[in-house]
Amino acid sequence: MEGSDVKVESPNVKYHDDYIEAVYNYTTTRVRKDGNALIAQPLSTEYTFQTQTKLPRLGLMLVGMGGNNGSTLIASILANKHAMQWHTKTGKMQANYYGSITQSSTVYLGSTDSGEEVFIPMQQLLPMVHPNDLIIDGWDISSANMAEAMERAQVLDYNLQEQLRPYLTGIRPRPSIYIPDFIAANQEDRANNVLTGTKQMMLEQVRRDIRDFKESSGVDKIIVLWTANTERFSDVQAGLNDTSETLLNSIRNNESEVSPSTLFAVASILEGCTYINGSPQNTFVPGVIELAEKKKVFIGGDDFKSGQTKVKSVLVDFLVSAGIKPVSVVSYNHLGNNDGKNLSAPKTFRSKEISKSNVIDDMVKANRLLYKENEHPDHMVVIKYVPYVGDSKRAMDEYTSEIMMGGHNTMVIHNTCEDSLLATPLMIDLVVLAELCQRIKFKVGADQSYQGFNSVLSILSYLCKAPLVPNNTPLVNSLFRQRACIENIFRACIGLSPLNHMMLEYKHQNINLSQNNGLISVFSKKEAIDSKNVIKTSNGVQGSSDSEGEK
Ligand code: NAD
Repeated sequence: MEGSDVKVESPNVKYHDDYIEAVYNYTTTRVRKDGNALIAQPLSTEYTFQTQTKLPRLGLMLVGMGGNNGSTLIASILANKHAMQWHTKTGKMQANYYGSITQSSTVYLGSTDSGEEVFIPMQQLLPMVHPNDLIIDGWDISSANMAEAMERAQVLDYNLQEQLRPYLTGIRPRPSIYIPDFIAANQEDRANNVLTGTKQMMLEQVRRDIRDFKESSGVDKIIVLWTANTERFSDVQAGLNDTSETLLNSIRNNESEVSPSTLFAVASILEGCTYINGSPQNTFVPGVIELAEKKKVFIGGDDFKSGQTKVKSVLVDFLVSAGIKPVSVVSYNHLGNNDGKNLSAPKTFRSKEISKSNVIDDMVKANRLLYKENEHPDHMVVIKYVPYVGDSKRAMDEYTSEIMMGGHNTMVIHNTCEDSLLATPLMIDLVVLAELCQRIKFKVGADQSYQGFNSVLSILSYLCKAPLVPNNTPLVNSLFRQRACIENIFRACIGLSPLNHMMLEYKHQNINLSQNNGLISVFSKKEAIDSKNVIKTSNGVQGSSDSEGEK
């Protein structure tokens, strides 16, 4: 089915010249606590979605474009665009986007009359910008051009680097905001491309850079993505950064506690550009969130969920939902790239530690049979800088759980892989999904006007270690739930029901999947036998639909 367009045939879905309109019945369950009783009430709300189908020329501005992630992203997009191939000792390789859910994963659409399950690339659910069409610019405190940055990163094979070099030498980062207090002191020797002046002056320069890129490249919209070094956390204080007004004032007053990443977020929001934070620090102080909400601009983050944490958000979910009690989760990492070097300073490490620590909280909280109020597994995260291993990060995790009758189950995972080749596809997904979300509007019930998603774009949670969610919104870390959120919202935009995996149509005594006025009809047992109806068994054998009980 690859390459085929999806067209929904339904009275609830209309295709207009430049948008798709879908009327969608959203069902939820509201629970009321009445003494010891829980009263569950099914609710249903009609949503009307409108998704603009015209794709923009999309600009992407990377903060930290000369880093391992930034340079790998730019190089990989060029390699894909030019369908590059290269040789390694194991044979010929071909550029691809493995690891990106939008580019390399499929979603279940539905089943045919004969019961064949149809999967399509996620990018065919709704029109999405293709990464090959991104136009990229950005900033770095290091002046290296992208060919030098790629070489410094030591991520891509040499044979590929040689092909990419001519395309990359001319791409240079814009000077950036460098405030040594916020990143490790060991980064000082690469800071040779920096802006000077007060914070207000630097903010205005970044805003001019965004406008300049827009004009010179002719892009329709820009997304700004922070992939620069992890900063230490900033203090959050009343009068400093607790509201948009105090934050803008603090910038005018050149307050020392306003971080470079917060300045980039503010500049981006003031220019109406979505801002995404790929690192763990608290860029999104309350004043930034309020500013984004006032300006109706998307923000998303924090920290790419690339490897160890991603596995954790699957494994702990699995264990707890299987009724097994994880009691100790211990994670070691060592890596030798510049990110690891920066994280070797206690304050920047602390940011990463915080971001990696909360990932199991919601799953633990969901099972009060296993955990008492305030009871948690021991959860430890260690990161060490070992230059020799370069970008090839090692992650070792030990999960110890209590099983039945005092037994224990200990699992150990050892993961070795190029860190930047895990993070780069996530950067693509963050940008592609955030851009699509800008084209989706909806109205609820009898509302007259349409609205967009909340400024805090929680739909990006799947891609983030420490998801930023709006106030009063449950925080979900479980990877499966996060993915289901993306798939089902996009299905809603084309009027399709959420994937519930019930497969009820296959659970009747007699199964017949022939279509009847859009409804699947199920024959009575007698009719089924009379018509020599057949069912498909799990081993693929076709047999009669007699049920065992009636033999
Ligand atoms: P890197 O050190 O290779 O790259 C960071 C780049 O940012 C460097 O080129 C540096 O010069 C630049 N920089 C630092 N401060 C800057 C500033 N104020 N303005 C502009 N540029 C600045 O690191 P990386 O491996 O590319 O990772 C980037 C970020 O992504 C890190 O914060 C890392 O923790 C985060 N992250 C990475 C992964 C992964 O798997 N690679 C996963 C999650 C999060």
